[in-house]
Amino acid sequence: MGNKIFIYNTLSRKKEKFEPINAPFVGMYVCGPTVYGDGHLGHARSAIVFDLIFRYLQHLGYKVRYIRNITDVGHLESDADEGEDKIAKKARLEQLEPMEVVQYYSNRYHENMDQLNVKKPSIEPRASAHIIEQIEMVKKIIEEGYAYESNGSVYFDVEKYDQSYAYGKLSGRVMEDLISNTRELDGQSEKRNSYDFALWKKAMPEHIMRWPSPWSDGFPGWHMECSAMGCKYLGEQFDIHGGGMDLLFPHHESEIAQSNIANGNDPAKYWVHNNMITINGQKMGKSLNNFITLNEFFSGKHESLEKAFSPMTIRFFILQAHYRSTLDFSNEALVAAEKGLTKLMKANETLQGLKAGAKSDFNVEELKLKCYEALNDDFNSPILIAHLFEGVKWINSVNDGKAQLIQSDIDLLKTLFSDFIIDILGLKAEESNSDNNELVDGLMNSFLAIRQEAKQNKDWATADKIRDELGKLNIVIKDTKDGASWEIKE
Ligand code: ZN
Repeated sequence: MGNKIFIYNTLSRKKEKFEPINAPFVGMYVCGPTVYGDGHLGHARSAIVFDLIFRYLQHLGYKVRYIRNITDVGHLESDADEGEDKIAKKARLEQLEPMEVVQYYSNRYHENMDQLNVKKPSIEPRASAHIIEQIEMVKKIIEEGYAYESNGSVYFDVEKYDQSYAYGKLSGRVMEDLISNTRELDGQSEKRNSYDFALWKKAMPEHIMRWPSPWSDGFPGWHMECSAMGCKYLGEQFDIHGGGMDLLFPHHESEIAQSNIANGNDPAKYWVHNNMITINGQKMGKSLNNFITLNEFFSGKHESLEKAFSPMTIRFFILQAHYRSTLDFSNEALVAAEKGLTKLMKANETLQGLKAGAKSDFNVEELKLKCYEALNDDFNSPILIAHLFEGVKWINSVNDGKAQLIQSDIDLLKTLFSDFIIDILGLKAEESNSDNNELVDGLMNSFLAIRQEAKQNKDWATADKIRDELGKLNIVIKDTKDGASWEIKE
């Protein structure tokens, strides 16, 4: 841990030296998914960015307790505390119990995370399993005088809070903007001001996800869960709080306000936010028909995709950008990432059998220092990858007999590649899809040629046998005027 990490803190808007509150222990809380649909690139980016941070801190010897929650209640369709609960809505549409929706999409999320080689967090708490902790925290905020009850619901009094604390200090939003940008209340509203946020919501009669509380049968406001669970598992103040930039406001801003009143301090020392994903330069959204799930990327089954992209290609692509930059997905960019990854993994294979020479033409020790410097500078993975490609060049020229490395430098390079590529970037060798596809294409063309020949010789028995045997493998042969084509039946 001699390494000095500098980490960009969204709160101070500058890079700060990373000094954990209770080193070597590090508490890290990252807002996980609301599980009502299949995982997409936004989920992948956030998970992979914080997986990199988790892996690197562990590599340096820190004892990291990493909490990534699952939101299974309280996340409403609109940030203004209106609309249906996202999970309850999905359950209604699918005619399932809300907890069936939660289980189904949690399982799929975990499968995706395993495919992407994202390490499991230390604890993965669910909001619905921490209702008591959330109620206790709401009680404290009411006792301190910063929340009010209205018709069975409880709201945080933002205006009062802002008089003694700075509401908006994380997101940079100031009260004047909030006041001018929010609509007038219509008199029917339970809130004193439209920017007040719910700590507890009274459930409508048809709402299944409900728990008793001093105020009503209802459910917690979305921001409560992370405050309550972060505090329960990491203490009143922990080191890193992370999530996607879309969570800055109102989610994280509200968490800060809640913790300041209930615990007397900000919940986290460093706030880390990953930037967003765009697709062909456009924002990702269901209405734009560019909403591609991770499973669609892995199978290639989406009209915007020219081919399938493996989980490691997606992982490498995400790591090729710094987490605070926006990242634009396109077929071309993914194909380039796929090529880069293949080159890197092949060089790592070549390295294992590299023959030592009498002298070293390259400075491996210096390369190692540069790799650490890259990650110490706010986890700069693209710079790290550029340094690793310098190593790839060396490996290939030694392998081609154009340069030399002595045995101890080869060993150092092996450790370097294993540490950074496998352990820290979390990349692993995977069977190349394109190699497999080429093989299948080749085999199928041979079968079709044999069948064509049999047909020409009026050997119907052989032609039918080929068709039937392939049929058992769900491969359908279609005769066309130029010969035959094949496809795999869904
Ligand atoms: Zn959260």
